[in-house]
Amino acid sequence: KSKQMGKNTYFFYDDNQDTVIIEQQKMIKRLEQALSDNELVLHYQPKVNMRTGRIVGTEALIRWHHPERGLVPPGEFLPIIEDNEMIVALGEWVIAEALRQFDTWEQQGFRLPISVNISVRHLQTASFVERLEAQLRQAGRLKQDVLEIEITETAAINDLRHVTKLIESCRALGVHSALDDFGTGYSSLTYLKLLPVHTLKIDKSFILDMARDAEDHAIVSGVIGLAKAFDLTVIAEGVETTQHGVLLLGLGCELGQGYGIAPPMSADRFVEWARHWRPDPLWARVPFGERG
Ligand code: C2E
Ligand code: MG
Ligand code: MG
Ligand code: MG
Repeated sequence: KSKQMGKNTYFFYDDNQDTVIIEQQKMIKRLEQALSDNELVLHYQPKVNMRTGRIVGTEALIRWHHPERGLVPPGEFLPIIEDNEMIVALGEWVIAEALRQFDTWEQQGFRLPISVNISVRHLQTASFVERLEAQLRQAGRLKQDVLEIEITETAAINDLRHVTKLIESCRALGVHSALDDFGTGYSSLTYLKLLPVHTLKIDKSFILDMARDAEDHAIVSGVIGLAKAFDLTVIAEGVETTQHGVLLLGLGCELGQGYGIAPPMSADRFVEWARHWRPDPLWARVPFGERG
């Protein structure tokens, strides 16, 4: 039996344990090669204020520029190596590359915080904060609010004590933390009270259905209320349509990310996009936060 890893799966693997391990080893080798051949790239997706049009940040999303297969999305290689230490090398590359891109953009007149996704395995390494600090110091970016880390809600609640300390240490370095895919991880209010995160990212599955599914609408509304009560920033992922933005603004959520604003883009395209982008004119007319 083959395991399906997304609709255009390039890398099949067998449910048979040995085959899984062999395929994983092969993938690790290929990725190590890809890393040294500069085949990995970061694309960037803007985070915007849908009301004012301000671009508030950007999320770095890894892609593999494969010589034969073209642009391969992370869902087709990250899950295979997620529990291997290779994910750490990859994560450190992402951080270094994001810091490099921050410099380049700053020279072009942009100063935009970059969010990077950090995998559980990487977070769990004892030296995570130390290495992050070293990378920031080397880039001359300690305490400068240039990086944000996105941790999935599930990863955070599985290791609450450790992640709590880690988030505090990151904050001391000037690195804010966001809980990614929020709403999918069953975290209780108690957990949220304990986690010193800065931002909640509402998972796109709720946004995509909120227009026709009353329960998803209620969840989105609830998360926005929760963020207000805990004094956290809230951002919606999966803003694909004008209506998504209208509904979110009506509920008092002004930050959004999604194909309806812009897809993830190469760094150069991002700059072009940022020069021309204007928010949907309908969004400016929504009475902010007045609908429940
Ligand atoms: P994520 O962090 O939740 O990122 C959001 C994903 O949703 C991205 O997929 C993005 O392209 C996609 N997306 C953005 N707007 C929309 C929209 O309006 N509608 C829909 N349906 N999707 C949208 P992508 O780039 O394929 O990344 C998938 C996941 O892979 C990410 O989910 C993240 O968990 C992981 N990932 C990506 N880059 C990295 C990385 O550098 N390191 C690690 N550890 N994980 C990464
Ligand atoms: Mg993310
Ligand atoms: Mg997400
Ligand atoms: Mg996700």
